[in-house]
Amino acid sequence: MLRRSFVYGPVPSRRLGLSLGVSIVPPKTCTIDCIYCQCGRTTRRTLDRESFYPVEEVISQVRAAVAAHRVEFITFSGEGEPTLNRDIGRIIRRLKDEFSIPVAVLTNGTLLTDPAVRRALYPADLVVPSLDAADERNFARVNRHHPGLNVANVIRGLVTFRRHYRGKLWLEVMLVKNINDSPEHLVMLRRAAEDIGPDRVHLNTVARPPAVRRARPLSDDDLAQVQKLFGSRCEIADSPLRRRQRRFHGDPAAAIIELARRRPVTPADITRSLGVDSAELPKLLARLTRAHRLRRVEFWGKVFYEARRSPADTARG
Ligand code: SF4
Repeated sequence: MLRRSFVYGPVPSRRLGLSLGVSIVPPKTCTIDCIYCQCGRTTRRTLDRESFYPVEEVISQVRAAVAAHRVEFITFSGEGEPTLNRDIGRIIRRLKDEFSIPVAVLTNGTLLTDPAVRRALYPADLVVPSLDAADERNFARVNRHHPGLNVANVIRGLVTFRRHYRGKLWLEVMLVKNINDSPEHLVMLRRAAEDIGPDRVHLNTVARPPAVRRARPLSDDDLAQVQKLFGSRCEIADSPLRRRQRRFHGDPAAAIIELARRRPVTPADITRSLGVDSAELPKLLARLTRAHRLRRVEFWGKVFYEARRSPADTARG
């Protein structure tokens, strides 16, 4: 049987430094189905938490990656909602006991209504929940949520989590043109963010090929206006000024495929993330595309590369 890979990277992250990704749910298993999702449509929309994989296997893969690479953050993310894994709290505690590396969880926050999920995330050093909607209409439009979710409860869950959680909380807000960016809704979102009281608010817009074609980005000027509305703790997530360059050492072809397996990437993303020589990159991308390892896609005049799923990947999922 093929062995599933739970870790990827480390990849240089603007916010976290060298971040080792840990993915503990099957691809596109999520509580919602965001129209902007860069991993495609949710194939399993569920609220049921499960023990998807043996905890020991996850830990041993992290152990091997930490022994082989410099890692500055261990980050739970991936192509689904990590809190759907019922063992996430146990895994975080094990990692905190074994390594002196900070742990981050990127989550859509919808299950923080559940006290068991809140408790599971308390040992993490950083939690980054997203909140794209402050009312049911926008929740349905942008997140296409599971019918068992209610956005007022989700916000209450975030408020309660913030009250008890001692680590850093960064709230991520994704704005989609003409979907959740009306002035009235932005004011509601700002109020929700004030109630939650995160350490920072990160504004984002659609920057990669989305699950649904009509999901369009806001302009830089629009984002700057929204940033003003949200106040001093708010920053625009993709500001080029904040990007950090780090050099990747290893097999560039394997690293590019690994990066593109998680999300569609531009040549600039690859250069920035992996430090691959920009003069060599076009040849490398052409070779990988010819070999059917990457697929070239266009979104709003920009070229992206995404990894082609091999039968082995499907079996791993
Ligand atoms: S963006 Fe995240 S929360 Fe939204 S559907 Fe994709 S994996 Fe789920």
